[in-house]
Amino acid sequence: MPGSIRLRDVLESLTFFAFVAITALCLSFTFSMVVYQLGLPANPRVFVLTNLVVSACVAVPTAVLASQHEYRLRIYQRRLEALAATDPLTGLYNRRFFRQAMDDELNRMRRTRQTAGLVFFDLDHFKRINDRFGHKTGDVVLQEVAESAFAELRGPFDRLGRWGGEEFVILLSDVTLEQAESVCERIRMRIESLTVEHKGQVISVTASFGTCLLAQGGNADIALETADAALFESKNSGRNKVSSRRALELVA
Ligand code: GH3
Ligand code: MG
Ligand code: MG
Repeated sequence: MPGSIRLRDVLESLTFFAFVAITALCLSFTFSMVVYQLGLPANPRVFVLTNLVVSACVAVPTAVLASQHEYRLRIYQRRLEALAATDPLTGLYNRRFFRQAMDDELNRMRRTRQTAGLVFFDLDHFKRINDRFGHKTGDVVLQEVAESAFAELRGPFDRLGRWGGEEFVILLSDVTLEQAESVCERIRMRIESLTVEHKGQVISVTASFGTCLLAQGGNADIALETADAALFESKNSGRNKVSSRRALELVA
């Protein structure tokens, strides 16, 4: 999940802490040795011990501050990564990140020889909802649709993104075209049965789906075009339905 703190971040912060602390101690110890060699202290053992304690008192807070700083930087970095990857309205992956996820999936498929499903879905007559109930309510509908679709997917294996406006995109890992169609059908029905309340009125919405198979050695851009063409087919044949294309040209 983008934005979450990872164990690696904590370990790296601790390593940084240890590095700063040991460096400060070594420097201080070297300094005390130089002073000792010059013959300045009356009681060398007491001097070295005192110097070590004093050094530790300086080094430890310095290291704590430094590691806190480092840790905070890591958190900001994760937040920035999350912001760059997600759509602020729905919290889903944005188009750029989704496109990256597609390339990653294609690379993975080269090793696993699995296939994946690519899905586009677009809300039907969404403009009417905005016109009738206002843009803010339209935003709530978009959020509810995003949640409903997400609930039908398999956790980290499938990726759901907002392609733009009221159009969403899904990458279904390790599925056949038939399985992709049945996932689309489940999401379609779930969206159809979704209701959003607005000032005592009940708003419902439907969506049209287009899906195609992404095969090993396939081309992401062609797959996107193919799924989009299938979506267009659903729109042209009455909306609130699922269309699919086998996209033979994608199979290596
Ligand atoms: P179709 O069934 O052909 O897809 O019709 P449609 O009305 O859904 O499609 P159209 O492209 O005509 O209108 C899309 C609407 O989606 C218009 C635009 O204002 C609205 N929209 C796009 N992004 C957002 C958004 O972030 N929030 C809200 N509330 N509306 C949005
Ligand atoms: Mg639409
Ligand atoms: Mg649209």
